[in-house]
Amino acid sequence: MSFKPANRIQDLQYFGEFGGVNPSISDSSTYTFLSAKTMFDTFEGNVEGCYLYSRHSSPSNLYLGEALAAMEGTETAHVAATGMGAITPTLLQLCHAGDHIVASRTIYGGTYAFLKNFAPKFGITSSFVDITNPTAISEAIKPNTKIIYCESVSNPLLEIANLPELSQIAKSNGLKLLVDNTFSPLSISPAALGADIVLHSLTKFINGSSDTMGGVTCGSRELINDLKNVNDGASMLLGPSMDSLRAASILKNLRTLHIRIKQHSKNALYLAEKFEADGLKTVYPGLPSHPGHQTFRNMMNEEYGFGGMLTIDVGSLNKANELMELMQQRNLGYLAVSLGFYKTLFSAPGTSTSSEIPEEEQKAMGLSDGLIRFSIGLENDIERTYQMMQQCMIEIGILKAIIA
Ligand SMILES: *Cc1c(COP(=O)(O)O)cnc(C)c1O
Repeated sequence: MSFKPANRIQDLQYFGEFGGVNPSISDSSTYTFLSAKTMFDTFEGNVEGCYLYSRHSSPSNLYLGEALAAMEGTETAHVAATGMGAITPTLLQLCHAGDHIVASRTIYGGTYAFLKNFAPKFGITSSFVDITNPTAISEAIKPNTKIIYCESVSNPLLEIANLPELSQIAKSNGLKLLVDNTFSPLSISPAALGADIVLHSLTKFINGSSDTMGGVTCGSRELINDLKNVNDGASMLLGPSMDSLRAASILKNLRTLHIRIKQHSKNALYLAEKFEADGLKTVYPGLPSHPGHQTFRNMMNEEYGFGGMLTIDVGSLNKANELMELMQQRNLGYLAVSLGFYKTLFSAPGTSTSSEIPEEEQKAMGLSDGLIRFSIGLENDIERTYQMMQQCMIEIGILKAIIA
């Protein structure tokens, strides 16, 4: 595939107002107008290039949005204060009371809770399906369905959505395909594979330093204008706007995303291969044993690898907790939710990030008690990390000593 997302980021040139190599930060919530007429026209949406109020847009936010649109290959983008602050207004903008969404059943816990518990208050209902089963998806589509919603690499089970296939189903039924690409920035380019809208939590890999929250909706100019409309735009009226200082810092971190993703992927593949060889139940899209391995391969921008996320199943929640605490004591990473940090992060999704999903549904989707989700960090010496992790597993009886 010839899509080069990191080149597209690199090719954008922004200068500060005094020739700074970084764009100036727009440290203002409101903006002056030279004439009262221009202010009126701007509120009416008839003037381009003027700023009115930072909940609507700001120069710093536009710079970051344009860089993310370039990365995803969409017309434009709109940044938000958090990932959920991008996802929920986008869904509410596209759906009205009486509409229906077909969603993957293995999505981020917050998105799942929004669709299951919150959106029905507005008459928007959802069916949750196995996103790797095209028949189940087609059967779930109803006359009032508007959207197919999935994650390219799902949380936490790392299922791979076949985006070209989903796009075909969406197109032939007149639906929009929305893809949350938080787990696989650069590796997968959903818009180039047929997605209509690409969403991210910037809080994770894209910012990469676990110091900031952020989100983005990448899509058509029409959608983004609708989201920002002063009269009926969900982003404008619900108000999850990103702060300019944060937009500027995320843009600077975006500059190194391609280097970081390559290292996350390299380290994760190394550990996944070792864990699997040790006999641990390991899920990583880069392993040929992963059911979505070939699908990922067919879609990926090869140089970025299969991403930094992997899971192992150590049999029980007690063992999982014991192992995570020991690994943290040995400074192999942190027992924390979230992902995309320089340091390895691990958590047991059943009791943390997916706890919004009822227990019996967790079972149905294959989310077991002993599952540990790893976001593999940027370790320089992953071999040493592996040896130390293996030692932890031997000490608490997950691995037999003979392996060492
Ligand atoms: C974290 C996450 C979100 C939500 O993003 P926030 O920045 O926490 O609001 C959405 N989708 C996925 C896949 C995530 O991992």
